[in-house]
Amino acid sequence: MSGWVIVAGLGPGAEGMVTPDVTAALDEATDIVGYTPYVARIAPRPGLTLHPTDNREELQRARHALDMAASGRRVVIVSSGDPGVFAMASALFEALEAWDGPPPDIRILPGITAMLAAAAAAGAPLGHDFCAINLSDNLKPFALIEKRLRLAAEADLAMAFYNPRSNARPDGFARVLSILLECCGPDRPIIFARAVSTPDQRIVTTTLGQAEPKMADMRTVVIVGNSATRTVGRWVYTPRGMA
Ligand code: SAH
Repeated sequence: MSGWVIVAGLGPGAEGMVTPDVTAALDEATDIVGYTPYVARIAPRPGLTLHPTDNREELQRARHALDMAASGRRVVIVSSGDPGVFAMASALFEALEAWDGPPPDIRILPGITAMLAAAAAAGAPLGHDFCAINLSDNLKPFALIEKRLRLAAEADLAMAFYNPRSNARPDGFARVLSILLECCGPDRPIIFARAVSTPDQRIVTTTLGQAEPKMADMRTVVIVGNSATRTVGRWVYTPRGMA
């Protein structure tokens, strides 16, 4: 039997948000590759080998998956959320570019990305045009993050922020909040959505004027509305039309 690699999104956490296609791929796999906390979401069974690895080893992990597929294994690389959103699908194609020999069968299976699960939990803050920005400066300079923030604010896009804050980067998010405050003003709604769809879920809605860096951590996705975003009851939404 010939091997394959599937890059699958496990969704934000809840079992019900794993797609049937992803479940079917996991059922057929011989090997699961991925960042340790994501691999921990896969139930062990006979005939399935789990290969948890550190987060900083994306390319190595992708090469390992290609190697195993070339030798006939059925490999699923797992990501949280969607595998194409700041995750392993791009790393696999980077590894494929440097790959000698016939490429194995590859498929990417989408998942529910954090910002969409967070938006649904809060209401509909991404109901008009929006963008998504990864705030980690591991893979790009902070100057580029700042440029994109300012241009997104100027374009009046709602914004979703991934990887807002970590112990390794304690100050970056404070800078991000002060740039947003300068560009969008103190009354703009901001949502801190932590551990969405898990038992630890916490959704906090406030304004840029009240927001504090400590409201976010690595399990939080942050959503900032556009100039028309408003609340109705406990919900935050962005209207469908703009004048
Ligand atoms: N591929 C993933 C994103 C990986 S980057 C996806 O599509 O969702 C990791 C970041 O995603 C975290 O720092 C956090 O900002 C966000 N994230 C992932 N799962 C989350 C969840 N359940 N709740 C809130 N944010 C989450």
